[in-house]
Amino acid sequence: MTEEIVVIPGDGIGKEVIPEAKRVVESVIDVTFIEADAGDAVKEETGTALPQETYDLAASADATLFGAAGETAADVILPLRDAVGSFVNIRPAKAYPGVDALRPETDLVFLRENTEGVYSGHEDRLSDDLSTLTRVVTTSASEALAAFACDYVSGEEHDGFTIAHKANVMRETDGRFRDAVVSVAKENDVPVDEVLMDAFATRVCLDPTQFDVIVCPNLAGDVLSDLAAGLVGGLGLLPSANVGTDRALFEPVHGTAPDIAGNGIANPTATILSAAMMLEYLGYETESNAVNDAVEAVLSDGPRTGDLGGNATTTEMTDAIINHL
Ligand code: ATP
Ligand code: MG
Repeated sequence: MTEEIVVIPGDGIGKEVIPEAKRVVESVIDVTFIEADAGDAVKEETGTALPQETYDLAASADATLFGAAGETAADVILPLRDAVGSFVNIRPAKAYPGVDALRPETDLVFLRENTEGVYSGHEDRLSDDLSTLTRVVTTSASEALAAFACDYVSGEEHDGFTIAHKANVMRETDGRFRDAVVSVAKENDVPVDEVLMDAFATRVCLDPTQFDVIVCPNLAGDVLSDLAAGLVGGLGLLPSANVGTDRALFEPVHGTAPDIAGNGIANPTATILSAAMMLEYLGYETESNAVNDAVEAVLSDGPRTGDLGGNATTTEMTDAIINHL
């Protein structure tokens, strides 16, 4: 059977890294790519950053691979996450042998709530002096995330998960989040512990091996996973998955990198690792493992792009990964 995958390169280096990830996927499975547009360039042409056709494709495909959008990022990625009904953002932050990292022992996975919290969109300007934000936390969204987390850690490599929150101050909202996640973990006999998110920030820098899978509210997940990116050696390495009930959207954590866009020197790793997450999601576990292994081998002693201290082009680094497959 031919797998159908929607690809949205977007702007900047999205246009350079998405074609490379496609080549990697093509080399391991039988696939048809459906190309769709989104981002600054489309907005300039058509007046809308996310054409209805693109939204509809993402809302009906099993999997979508997205690159990056520039100025219009929020107009593109938030509706796309909505199109796939994504309630969790999976962000692994792992250091690789051969890559210069502040904390080479880092191996973390953030499971970030993806629909509410302070990103609920409820902001108001009440006067010239006063603006407010309504932080939304529901038991249902917290439980959906927790159920996903329980499933995620059910394999042998994980021993439960840690909740990062600030329920000592935001007693109602983070309290609700914490209570809902703890109760789902208990129902599923999954070991769970808690850490205040500020303490987590310090402790993860001092010794990331204290943690494994971290479950957190939306903003905390955004900030703390970027902090972890700093520990492992840079944005060019970090993949992510926005998972919903029936479909999912995969994207590198980085943006359009306008400073290097157009030069063919962007690091394709984050997007190729996102594609590996996509392969696993679609049930191609062997192929996904093979891609992860090939990336690891090339990072350890193959050609690499400038951000990792090498001088390979985007295409040369991808060729090396494909050769390893
Ligand atoms: P945007 O607004 O689209 O996020 P940005 O200027 O914040 O753009 P990012 O893409 O977030 O840029 O990246 C931040 C910096 O990290 C860039 O300046 C770029 O040099 C570097 N960077 C990000 N991704 C990569 C990559 N894949 N390969 C090499 N360098 C990268
Ligand atoms: Mg950025």
